[in-house]
Amino acid sequence: MSMKKRITVQLCVVGGIAIVVTTMLSMFVYYMMFQRQIFSDLETNLEVIEVLFGDGTIENGCQIPSEDVLRVTLIDQEGAVLYDSDANSFSMENHKERPEIKEALKEGIGKDIRVSNTIGQNTYYYAKQIGNNYVLRVAKEANGMLALFYEALPIIIVVAILLLLICSLLAKYLTKRIVRPIENMAQELSLITEFEEIVPYEELIPFATMIKDQHSNIHKQLRDLEHSEKIRQEFTANVSHELKTPLTAITGYSELIEEGIASQGDTIRFAKEIRKNATRLLHLINDIIELSELDIAEEEVKKEELDLYEIAKNCTDTLKITAKNHEVELKLIGNKVMLYANKNMMEELITNLCDNAIRYNKKGGIVKVVLYSKDENVILTVEDTGIGIPKEHFARVFERFYRVDKSRSKQTGGTGLGLAIVKHIVAKHGAKITLKSEVMIGTTVTIEFPSQNKVEKK
Ligand code: ADP
Repeated sequence: MSMKKRITVQLCVVGGIAIVVTTMLSMFVYYMMFQRQIFSDLETNLEVIEVLFGDGTIENGCQIPSEDVLRVTLIDQEGAVLYDSDANSFSMENHKERPEIKEALKEGIGKDIRVSNTIGQNTYYYAKQIGNNYVLRVAKEANGMLALFYEALPIIIVVAILLLLICSLLAKYLTKRIVRPIENMAQELSLITEFEEIVPYEELIPFATMIKDQHSNIHKQLRDLEHSEKIRQEFTANVSHELKTPLTAITGYSELIEEGIASQGDTIRFAKEIRKNATRLLHLINDIIELSELDIAEEEVKKEELDLYEIAKNCTDTLKITAKNHEVELKLIGNKVMLYANKNMMEELITNLCDNAIRYNKKGGIVKVVLYSKDENVILTVEDTGIGIPKEHFARVFERFYRVDKSRSKQTGGTGLGLAIVKHIVAKHGAKITLKSEVMIGTTVTIEFPSQNKVEKK
């Protein structure tokens, strides 16, 4: 059943109940008033008759007037009927036990209502003691409650039908008024910014909040999806482009050698170029594989207890030759620091940072790798005296294939993926990376591993 129908029906039921109860109550009140009116009439009648009755002796021949509707009875204090205007019932039994007579003898005035033979008709008795010897009683037949009801029934039915009609019309209107704001809300729900404006009833706020949250969640997921899809496409385009350049060079040089027009010296030079480009391709592919592995590994990486100093030592030893080629001094400062981490990733991390620090350095420059613990955390800094990174590039250097100086990166064998890999590894270890750099002065990269990654020294 629709909400509207339900509310309308319930309002109509309430209206119906109200009509019935009101009818019954007003019938009852009307009946009470009717009774009072009859007794008041009887009292007046009795008073008139009493005056006519004079000094109270029936023997003096006073005729007690009586109409058809009004029955007058005179009774002595013993209950014997002395006179009755209703001739048929003149020879009646003793009246002493009749409630109204009993009451009149005791209190002066007595009343009673008794059901008369006729259906729905009652006889109303009003009795009054006169002097010490007599009780004068007047009686009248009139409608009882039921008869009154039957009499009023047509009017009651007409009025009730009218009221019900009005009720149902009103119920329809009220239902519309109650439901309309909800319908409006349902329509505007997708555009909700401020609830208070469109949620019509406070009871609906949790409901609206839930829908809004779901809405924004779906939107967010969609945006994230679109975003990652865009990044994926960009990455694919970038990879293709990066692969194309060395391959074009390799093809070109090998063609020249193939044609046999190159001199001995040229051939050696071309071969060197081919090897350089092949190495670049290898680096690039290695980095891409590394990144895709980091991307795929959804679950926790395999970690173990390891001495970060030992790993740093191995890395710097390996890089000594590169450093020497760039005329840069590579220093490692610190001692044993235990860390709970992935060994390969730590090697990759330190190598990438040191490699950058060497490649973007100046002749005679220094690269310092420092390891220490601070407040339970392990801190690794790689500091160089190189060309630095302008502030506006800080955020972007961690993006895939983003380079500040493209030619320098390529000349030194950069792939543009080093810092992207670093960022990934840092994230996998719940660590924090900070970049500090000043152009032509140097760069410091700091990585802070949280305490849960550190293992107590044994
Ligand atoms: P690349 O392979 O080109 O070095 P990275 O992702 O490692 O790629 O670094 C991105 C860019 O950030 C580099 O191209 C370079 O411009 C800049 N960069 C990284 N490390 C340093 C550094 N130590 N000093 C100066 N510039 C740096």
